[in-house]
Amino acid sequence: MPKVAIVRTGKLKGNAEFLPPTAKFVRYEEDIQQVKAKIEETINLAVGGIDNIVKPGETVLIKPNLAFQAPPESYSVVDPRVIEGMVAFLKEKSKAKEVWVGDNPSLGQHVGRARPAFDAAGMRAAAERGGADRVIYFDEEELVEVEIPDAKLYRKAKVFKPFLDADRVINLPKMKAHLAGTVTLGLKNWNGIIPNEHPSKEQQDVHRIDLGQKFADLYRVRKADLTFVDGIIAMEGQGPHVGTPVEMNLFIAGTDTVAVDAVAAYVMGFETIEIAAVRIAATEGLGERDINKIEVVGTPIAEVRHFFKRPMIDPTGLIPGIHVVVQQTCPGCFANIRGGLDLFNVSGIDVKDFNEKVGDVYVLAGGVPDLIPEWVEGKHLFVAGDCWKYFPSRDKVEKAMSLAKSVTEYPGCAPVYIFAQLNGDLQALYNKELATAAD
Ligand code: SF4
Repeated sequence: MPKVAIVRTGKLKGNAEFLPPTAKFVRYEEDIQQVKAKIEETINLAVGGIDNIVKPGETVLIKPNLAFQAPPESYSVVDPRVIEGMVAFLKEKSKAKEVWVGDNPSLGQHVGRARPAFDAAGMRAAAERGGADRVIYFDEEELVEVEIPDAKLYRKAKVFKPFLDADRVINLPKMKAHLAGTVTLGLKNWNGIIPNEHPSKEQQDVHRIDLGQKFADLYRVRKADLTFVDGIIAMEGQGPHVGTPVEMNLFIAGTDTVAVDAVAAYVMGFETIEIAAVRIAATEGLGERDINKIEVVGTPIAEVRHFFKRPMIDPTGLIPGIHVVVQQTCPGCFANIRGGLDLFNVSGIDVKDFNEKVGDVYVLAGGVPDLIPEWVEGKHLFVAGDCWKYFPSRDKVEKAMSLAKSVTEYPGCAPVYIFAQLNGDLQALYNKELATAAD
């Protein structure tokens, strides 16, 4: 029976400033000491001590969730206190030869590069303060092509070499709700072991309704030796970009990533069967998702279970004047259009003013059998994804494109980058109108 430990971290001094309305990360030495002690307690409970995982002279890679380029107070990335605490703990208490921290962020407002993302998240500084031997910007490293036996979709992958080179890997996700994955925890954290190739290959390939299978497949490349969830300040709702923080003050850890994800998702108020990656990985024998078949040690689940706001993925009827026509789509475009509109909604632009200056906007994806192309005449049009070309409604989309005032296409399947790009392009339209009015 797999074992998963749940440990309360206790309140940290810096949480008061870290959370809204201040929302500013402040490092206190006493917080680092408290986090380090709680990391040790969690690992002792989960596996009986770090020596049971890390043997003398081994290299250990910490693979954090550096989701995209964002500051700590975005709550999208692993808390710098946990990075520093984990590195310092391993340096002081394990017999590791070297401790590495490495990741490759996904697409964000600035198409993901590791070096600026590590800096923005405060992760490089935290790793260095903890005494890391190497901070590894995966996208600057060599790739190794690996076959993935028994994988259903991702049968081959180019994987960053340090991920394969390390003797041990600690999977360090952040507890977050997620539009496309429902939650993002240990299994989804392997998205960072493969490169970004904009717009449609590698990291964002197989990122449609088949996202769960992708992570079950990637998990087969290499299992984590320990999965350790940062649940100090979690994220609920419209994660990973515009969710809201929840102070959970928890660590959850174990050696079976599927079981850790199952327990963490359950703690977040989800049923484990709702999480595609967990469901598929468990069904394929990669781990345990049945809460009753997992030995939960430390704090009982019932004492910490909190029902997170669920992510809403439907982009239709969200913003007046921004018409989303999606009749035959999968979540690859559906959820990511929603993500783009969620970001636009918090951009500070007044929607009424946007409507007056820019006029109606149309966003299309997939098959749109009931589209009337004339709706789009003289309007700005955004067309997401590749598959609209393969539906019988292709002619309607092409006619709409010929009638539109402007056309912006987002190629790819899935075009995950529209999360950031659609928001940026809507803002650019507005700013252009403002600049024209000012001339
Ligand atoms: S292009 Fe089509 S199949 Fe691909 S992600 Fe978009 S809706 Fe799904």
